[in-house]
Amino acid sequence: MPDTPATSMETLAILSMTCSEFEAAVRARHGGGPEAAIAAYRHVFRTGTTTFADLPAFAAAPALATALATQIHFPRCEIAARHEAAGVLKFSTRLPDAHVIESVLIPDKQRLTLCVSSQVGCRMGCRFCITGEMGILRNLTPEEIVWQVYAARFLLNRPVDNIVFMGMGEPMDNLPAVIQALHVLRDQRGLNIACRSITVSTAGHVDGIRQLATHDFPNLRLAVSIHAANDQLRTKLMPINVRYPLARLKEALRDYPLGKSGVILVEYVLLAGVNDSETHARELASYLDGLRVRINVIPYNGGSSVPFTTPTREQVDAFCGWLSAAGLFVKRRHPRGRSIMAACGQLGRRDTALSATSTARGHGSGLP
Ligand code: SF4
Repeated sequence: MPDTPATSMETLAILSMTCSEFEAAVRARHGGGPEAAIAAYRHVFRTGTTTFADLPAFAAAPALATALATQIHFPRCEIAARHEAAGVLKFSTRLPDAHVIESVLIPDKQRLTLCVSSQVGCRMGCRFCITGEMGILRNLTPEEIVWQVYAARFLLNRPVDNIVFMGMGEPMDNLPAVIQALHVLRDQRGLNIACRSITVSTAGHVDGIRQLATHDFPNLRLAVSIHAANDQLRTKLMPINVRYPLARLKEALRDYPLGKSGVILVEYVLLAGVNDSETHARELASYLDGLRVRINVIPYNGGSSVPFTTPTREQVDAFCGWLSAAGLFVKRRHPRGRSIMAACGQLGRRDTALSATSTARGHGSGLP
């Protein structure tokens, strides 16, 4: 690649680009071969810096190193707040337009999972979810999604192993940006997070599930929030059920291309006295019949304006027991992050969506 100085004020939004896209953009601007661009891309995603001068690929092109460092653009995001409790770290990101989103780092055995947001707020309106109470403010861009991973790795120095799209927002409602972010996250010359280490969660957006299935993301994990297996109750808890009732959702789940050993993760937030009876467990087992699933039972964490009640340990154990007796693989998720409002359904508050000190966020969320 020739040693060319910066010739354009256009920026390279590297967090929204795969290595091939970045290399093509650099070639179009500066000409030459791919080596320096690939080295720069690798360097940014491995170190978080844009100091390329010492890279062998730039030995004969020092001006290009300077030019790329000038042209590479990061979104004007900043970490506005962080809260840590019991090993769980929640951080708020102030976006360029001052909206605030939240992400949560969750240690689990030897691995570290980052729960990312895909929207500011959410239009799905699940009754037990604080994010749902915000309504939708806007979609995140691919680079704002990837920035959360970049921030965790390079600003907070946390070695992220897994990604779950369970923060604020319904990923399927912002699918083009989520898909581009997936391409960037899995790029082996960049962040190199394998699809099998990424989970996309949905409240049951059937069209989104079907669209996602058309993309080639081998072993990408899918999580779906059920929360009730009869349409009447599910519609009360999750308005999305009107548009995508349980029967349609099941068809989409049945058609979803799971890898050989893949399962669909079923999230079930347990609300005392609402969806926690033996009948509800039986309905769920019957609904899931014929699907390869693993169920996460998540005791309601509190915080929503609808006054649901957190079930007791005995109620949760009983519900899990009924599912196990029906032959289902069920995991009881132990609440973590409640004290910092980082647990399931606790992300995102209307009054803080534009605040620098927000404690926002939501989905079926990465945290039990
Ligand atoms: S649970 Fe998920 S889909 Fe439902 S309102 Fe909250 S963020 Fe949206």
